[in-house]
Amino acid sequence: MKEEKINPFEMARKQIDIAAKYLDLEPGLIGKLRNTKRELTVHFPIKMDDGTVKIFTGYRIQHNITRGPAKGGIRYHPDVDIDEVRALAMWMTWKSAVVNIPFGGAKGGIQCNPKEMSLSEIEHMTRRFIWEISIMLGPEQDIPAPDVNTNPQVMAWIMDTFSILKGYSVPGVVTGKPVELGGSLGRFEATGRGVVITSLEALKLLKKSIEGARVVIQGCGNVGGVAARHFSLLGAKVIAISDSKGGLYSEKGLDLERVLDCRVKYKCFVSEKKEDTEITNQELLELDCDILVPAALENQITEKNASRIKAKIIAEGANGPTTPEADEILNDKGVFVVPDILANAGGVTVSYFEWVQNLQELIWSEEEVLDRLTRIMQRSFKEVLDISLVKKIPMRTAALVLGIGRVAEATKLRGIYP
Ligand code: NAD
Repeated sequence: MKEEKINPFEMARKQIDIAAKYLDLEPGLIGKLRNTKRELTVHFPIKMDDGTVKIFTGYRIQHNITRGPAKGGIRYHPDVDIDEVRALAMWMTWKSAVVNIPFGGAKGGIQCNPKEMSLSEIEHMTRRFIWEISIMLGPEQDIPAPDVNTNPQVMAWIMDTFSILKGYSVPGVVTGKPVELGGSLGRFEATGRGVVITSLEALKLLKKSIEGARVVIQGCGNVGGVAARHFSLLGAKVIAISDSKGGLYSEKGLDLERVLDCRVKYKCFVSEKKEDTEITNQELLELDCDILVPAALENQITEKNASRIKAKIIAEGANGPTTPEADEILNDKGVFVVPDILANAGGVTVSYFEWVQNLQELIWSEEEVLDRLTRIMQRSFKEVLDISLVKKIPMRTAALVLGIGRVAEATKLRGIYP
């Protein structure tokens, strides 16, 4: 479900206004934080496999670089537009600050449908886009990463294109690379694992066990697929999972590996056993469960369906899945929301580890990566929870207060030039 009228950038700005009530900030500073720093729009031609030339539009937007280089993924999707990229860049700034890593926020995207493109067309589009936006990129400037419909192979093309431009290998220009090219062990799983780590903290708080907990996951890509497998490994019951075309539900819990294998075979979720029921994404969101993980796109939980959500905990794998209006309804219902800028921050955290390893030419073990990730996610959860309890505000507002507060403090210390 994609709500057409909801503008993610307006939503992100509304979130700043809500958090600003709990921060003593000058109006000028709020003005700076409500706006992006740099925006590059590019239109570029690609020769398609059939010999025709198609023009693509892409964006790279840096929201803030006060605490460090800009950091954020690149998305390939037909719905990519400038306001979506602006919002995603802003959320990256707050997210890096919530987990207290020295990055600012950025995002990029190309309006395209990669499902209708060949691998070679995707490669040509990626390389030309990176060439177009290369003036903004670099390990000290702006470091892309994977997002919807981009993966380690796309990151490898990004590294290669940027390195060719420089004349030497620059692994630190992008994270989420294949391990063979300097990618970090544990990066592929990082976002999904972070969702699981923060969900475990939420369960602990609500005095519930992971053993037998009923989990519903929207989206089965990098974030949703990894989270589903880890929930399952820990003894939870994944009762429903979906992709863009719909999903499967089983009251007893899905046989996850079989269901995911079957999706690869049919390219969508098809019920092979009578206990697995096919369901829509709308129905999936409203299932009775302990943990709901939206791990697809923005604007999935809105004022239209929030009152029908039955989950006890929502751990936001996706960025911006819940609108501010829906937040109010969920808060009134007592749903415990682990907000996106906390729940899915495992990705940027291990991206930071990857960048550090690249700059120092070191390789950390997977154990070390996961250990550091777990500690940062648990510490960040506690810091957000403490603010939420002391100020008596929802977890999302508390996370924004923490993230925006850190960026504001850094801005005050640096001063507004000139
Ligand atoms: P992905 O491309 O690997 O997977 C996206 C999944 O969402 C796919 O299963 C797709 O079928 C599904 N989907 C797409 N449109 C849908 C719709 N309308 N309804 C239901 N499902 C739909 O992408 P990803 O990297 O897993 O990213 C998912 C979300 O997590 C995005 O919001 C992204 O910004 C966020 N995120 C990703 C990372 C990361 O490290 N990849 C980090 C932080 C946040």
